Amino acid sequence: MGGAKRESALKTGLRGGHTFSFLLGILMKMRNLVAAAVAAAITLGSFSASASHSWNNYHWARTTASFNLQTLDSTVPGGTNANWPSLLGTAASQWSQSNSLNLVLSPFTNTSQSRRKCSAVPGKIRVCNAAYGKNGWLGLASINLDANGHISQGTAKMNDSYASVYAGDANEAKHVMCQEVGHTFGLGHTSEDGSSQNTCMDYSSSPTSTSPNQHDYDELAIIYQHLDSYNSYSTTSAVTAAEEHSMAGEVPLGHLVHQGAFEETWVAPDGKGGLWINHVTLAPPDAE
Ligand SMILES: [Zn+2]
Ligand SMILES: [Zn+2]
Repeated sequence: MGGAKRESALKTGLRGGHTFSFLLGILMKMRNLVAAAVAAAITLGSFSASASHSWNNYHWARTTASFNLQTLDSTVPGGTNANWPSLLGTAASQWSQSNSLNLVLSPFTNTSQSRRKCSAVPGKIRVCNAAYGKNGWLGLASINLDANGHISQGTAKMNDSYASVYAGDANEAKHVMCQEVGHTFGLGHTSEDGSSQNTCMDYSSSPTSTSPNQHDYDELAIIYQHLDSYNSYSTTSAVTAAEEHSMAGEVPLGHLVHQGAFEETWVAPDGKGGLWINHVTLAPPDAE
């Protein structure tokens, strides 16, 4: 796709405050703050040079207009209002209304130990819930960018240690599940000030902020408009022995590069020329 078209897609993304436009700022901050530790490992230049599309517009690489994103379900029912398997099913079918992607759900290892670690699986997203502790976050979405800057795996984790938050607000678990899953294919927030845009990608507690809206589908159409020269996703739900072996533990949180009222962004090098980008949905400050 041509340069002019790319630029207009980028502008649309920026105007909407959507997509990963904030990554430019992140990487600039990283240059200053953690240059010695991180720059050596990630070669910042490779992202802008090798991607054939705007570099802050992260997405899965695909050679076709639409693709199936294998979604491994490592959830079990949580507390009141937090029936994660059911909420994941709803989120997957809602996001699959996008013309750009289809989430294909498969049951996956869901022992307590495995859900706590929630190791990422190459080419797939994995959704887990567990009592991750009173660590400040309700939900955590992680995407791994390969050396070309494309998403190549991701995880979405829901924290049952804040079961009281979900129990006190029937919408919150839906909101968090929908949003963390939405991050795994390249959507950002529509706002970060608590205002409602009637989508789960905002930070409103409104009951209308629990599902994707048309703007999200439109945004995905923009992000996934072009084709890539390879696929960064896996075409099968099966996890090979080698992939299982490569599941080397928890996704690293890395360095805090963005702090908002409702969210944080953390970035870590993955040791293979790529990056982990982590979106945190913060627990309410008074949550117990
Ligand atoms: Zn691409
Ligand atoms: Zn978020």
